[in-house]
Amino acid sequence: QHLQVETVILGAGAAGLMCAAHAGAAGGRVLVVDHARAPGEKIRISGGGRCNFTNLNVKPQCFLSDNAHFAKSALSRYTQHDFIALVERYGIAYHEKTRGQLFCDDSARLIVDMLCAEMARAGAELRLQTRIDGVAKTEGGFSLDLDGQEGAYGVACRNLVVATGGKSIPKMGATGFGYRLAEQFGLAVTETRPGLVPLTFGEDVMADFRPLAGVAADVAVTCGAARFEEAMLFTHRGLSGPAILQISSYWREKMPIAVALLPGADPFEVLRERRRQDGRKAIASVLADLLPKRLALHMADRLGLAGNIGDMSDRKLSALAQALNGWELHPAGSEGYRTAEVTLGGVDTAALNSRTMEAKAVPGLYFIGEVVDVTGWLGGYNFQWAWSSGRAAGTAIAGE
Ligand code: FAD
Repeated sequence: QHLQVETVILGAGAAGLMCAAHAGAAGGRVLVVDHARAPGEKIRISGGGRCNFTNLNVKPQCFLSDNAHFAKSALSRYTQHDFIALVERYGIAYHEKTRGQLFCDDSARLIVDMLCAEMARAGAELRLQTRIDGVAKTEGGFSLDLDGQEGAYGVACRNLVVATGGKSIPKMGATGFGYRLAEQFGLAVTETRPGLVPLTFGEDVMADFRPLAGVAADVAVTCGAARFEEAMLFTHRGLSGPAILQISSYWREKMPIAVALLPGADPFEVLRERRRQDGRKAIASVLADLLPKRLALHMADRLGLAGNIGDMSDRKLSALAQALNGWELHPAGSEGYRTAEVTLGGVDTAALNSRTMEAKAVPGLYFIGEVVDVTGWLGGYNFQWAWSSGRAAGTAIAGE
């Protein structure tokens, strides 16, 4: 068997499905290939099964890349509002959870079904459980060796779109295949590392954290110039929660992170005020008014604080204030790709056209979605990048 098609899209994930819905608009045959049993598996499990499909506040500043400008073009030509309009056209109910994050009311499956319907409407064909054994450049495009339910066969195509995602959650079929393909065609790949991932700590710190497992606190976490004010969660393995996941994308080995337990307040002033008002209150109780109780008691214990706040000198209050808002931590590492929500780094954007996502040096070869060196914050930004970049390549292929 040997097939001749206009376009092959490798990966039936968020970006590949979106691309498929547009690439066939001019009538060329489009084949979408994936080794998984079902399309859009990461969409299905995302957002706790409800898919945080975009964010009302998408801005280029919410994306990390070696080239901060690269994502602007695709994001501005297919915005969060365009995707919301699509979701509404399909009658999918959704709500804003927090910070502009939009989730399905019911199931993430509805988003997968919507994208599959769009793909089918455009006439694209989906081949699942298909392995890609080889890709080569030909005179007029590319040739692929595939092995699927139909057995082994070859496909020739004019356009090849790589939408195979990142390395996160290998259990779900992530392979790093797209990075190797980029290198095969001479494209640079920037250093890849796990992003949006819980941070781990050495045994000395863990001994201190372990009794706090399960405690969540609203904090501000800083690393270098990045700062996020969100919830932080103590776990048996280290720190997690949105504030930590966000900062993990900016954290590099050996860098400290700083945690403020009373963000937006001057803790020294707060404590002095409490001393004026509640001088006879035990310091541990004062802390418990300000922090989650288990954390407050743990801190009082660890800092050896006893007695009433009224008996504490300015110097002691100042030291406590420092402990509250100037807490410096040295992560030992992260939980890695096993639990990372995304992969940072990827196909170097310098090698791609930001309007079309086509490789500048290899006409007809496109990279979209997470495989590209563009990574969003937590909160629906990564799917928006998948939609925007997928649609950019799709319309370019369709000649729109
Ligand atoms: P993917 O969606 O990962 O799709 C890649 C596809 O390529 C897969 O179907 C895979 O099977 C296929 N593939 C890979 N290698 C091969 C190969 N060698 N041969 C054939 N096929 C291959 N982002 C958000 O914005 N909001 C969220 O709520 C959210 N929740 C998440 C929850 C979890 C647990 C995880 C892991 C991620 C979450 N993300 C979320 C991130 C988001 O899922 C990804 O950024 C997004 O799916 C990337 O889209 P993509 O199309 O580039 O890759």
